[in-house]
Amino acid sequence: MILVTAGPTREFIDDVRFLSNLSTGRMGIEIAMAFAGAGVPTTLVLGPTSIAPPAMANLSVVDVVSAQQMFDAVEARFAACRMFIAAAAVADYRPVARATGKLKKATTPDAKDAPITLQLQPTPDILFEMGQRRRPAPEQILVGFALEVQNPIEHARGKLARKRCDLICLNSPANFGPDASAEGLTLISAEGPEQTLIAEPPTDKADLAQRLVAHLRDRFDLKG
Ligand code: C5P
Repeated sequence: MILVTAGPTREFIDDVRFLSNLSTGRMGIEIAMAFAGAGVPTTLVLGPTSIAPPAMANLSVVDVVSAQQMFDAVEARFAACRMFIAAAAVADYRPVARATGKLKKATTPDAKDAPITLQLQPTPDILFEMGQRRRPAPEQILVGFALEVQNPIEHARGKLARKRCDLICLNSPANFGPDASAEGLTLISAEGPEQTLIAEPPTDKADLAQRLVAHLRDRFDLKG
């Protein structure tokens, strides 16, 4: 089984407000669909997104909301997976406490213009934690994503080692969000030089996901 995370997470401040990010989940959804379409049983752990993955053979979807829920869903299935692909944009921090109801705005004359403080604590780093639990390659393969602005290759190599991944897919900032202008991934592993995958046409995320899945199946000998 291939286990994939995708989408953002939501970290609630109170019952109606949350911290999140702009991830659409598109890349991870396309990766899961490409595996399932090739006949490989795939489980997609998906954060809240407006894209609904299609019902298809070999694809099961587990909907989650928060980083903790995503962690729990992944942890419960990790031992059974042959490959874990972490494509989710997990929120790194969550409010220390979630208020019930709706937090009230301060209205007293001395408090109404004063800044307030929201205390945050780190969420679990799912990929890092699975790196701690993993069986060595080729029994289990871990694939992470990275989006780096400065010294991207160097930072991605650090991530590869720290999170005990076999491969990091380095995204260019131009790929991010709904207005992505170019789709390419730089693949970074411990052995050998970097490799680049380019979509055709250049803005096609589905094509990029298919190229990545073909590469992963070939490189890590995944038949099903
Ligand atoms: O450290 P950074 O967030 O840049 O690493 C990105 C990689 O780690 C992605 O593969 C992402 O899905 C994964 N990640 C995770 N859990 C987190 C943060 C990141 O699985 N809390």
